[in-house]
Amino acid sequence: MAEENKKIDFYNLTKSELIDLLKNRFNATQFRATQLFEWVYRKRVVDCEAMSNITKELRKELADTFSFEKAVVKERHDSKDGSRKYLLEVSPDVFIECVYIKQLDRITLCVSSQYGCAMGCVFCQTGTMGLKKNLSTGDIIRQVLTIVDDYPDNKILGTNLPVHNIVFMGMGEPLNNYDAVSNAIRILKDTAGFNMGGRKITVSTSGFVPGLEKFAQDDLDVNLAISLSATCDEVRNKIMPINKRYPIKQLIETLHTIPLKNRRKLTISYVLLNGINDTQADMKRLLSLVHGLKVKVNLIPYNENDGLDFQAPPDDTVTAWLDRLVRAGIETTVRWSRGLDIKAACGQLAVKKVN
Ligand code: SAH
Ligand code: SF4
Repeated sequence: MAEENKKIDFYNLTKSELIDLLKNRFNATQFRATQLFEWVYRKRVVDCEAMSNITKELRKELADTFSFEKAVVKERHDSKDGSRKYLLEVSPDVFIECVYIKQLDRITLCVSSQYGCAMGCVFCQTGTMGLKKNLSTGDIIRQVLTIVDDYPDNKILGTNLPVHNIVFMGMGEPLNNYDAVSNAIRILKDTAGFNMGGRKITVSTSGFVPGLEKFAQDDLDVNLAISLSATCDEVRNKIMPINKRYPIKQLIETLHTIPLKNRRKLTISYVLLNGINDTQADMKRLLSLVHGLKVKVNLIPYNENDGLDFQAPPDDTVTAWLDRLVRAGIETTVRWSRGLDIKAACGQLAVKKVN
């Protein structure tokens, strides 16, 4: 057991970290790291003995060096709409939820970045938990692998799925766990890893400015969604306490520094809460806040949470917002949520008690 514990979690390593490690320990060439990545992520082989294009001696060393622990599936809930929510133990005593979402031929995996969340948004079930632990890169990769293993017919690895997206919209504030999240993204994007294009990956943030500043400097090249959900500091301070540290003006200024490649846009997510942030005045302010930014807007009618006293606005309010934004020339979608019957929709993920 002690021996086992000393092993390195393979899923924690980006390819460049693996290259350095193999070089330092075994004087192996760069190519070995690519081969190992392909075995593990493309072919899903973790038995080092079976890695036939690697020398016998190195195979033995690899088996002694790395662990390939899986997540433990604690619960699995199927929605009528084809979505599936998992409660996983991604490392000992680290519990998170993640969701497989199916919409026609589109498959989206919604993954968590933290066990709980420190941001305390008052409309979000995860926010009620507080932050228990940051996930490691391996903990994030294990969520993807678990869902892939559970749906082997989907062939999510490689380029076999017609459309597949991974969104960091589960539990936690991804930019408040920057290194683990950015390294997981590198593994997802690596051509010898999951080989996913940056356009298929979205990081969602509540507006954690220090993380956005890092993101602006980084070369991750993935989509970014910002959960704005209010148009003045007075309301945002109340519903998203992070706003007291990084108020709207500072947030918007930071968004102007994010480089956007080609025709990419930022996504502004806006949770609509009846009577709180859904007035005509809010609509006007939203238009002026996003003026000059390349954005699309995603309206999210509030999903009900036990014990949280909010309601979604009536459908015609949602439609009025949609019409107004579209008339202003802003690409806008409404996220009519998936998985509501299993509490897998936005802001409903939380871990209460695990047996
Ligand atoms: N912490 C990040 C990533 C989680 S994404 C973030 O907040 O962006 C979760 C998304 O669901 C966010 O856009 C959040 O604003 C939204 N959300 C939270 N609670 C919700 C609820 N009860 N109904 C609808 N959307 C909610
Ligand atoms: Fe955390 Fe996002 Fe929930 Fe806010 S909405 S508490 S940032 S997970």
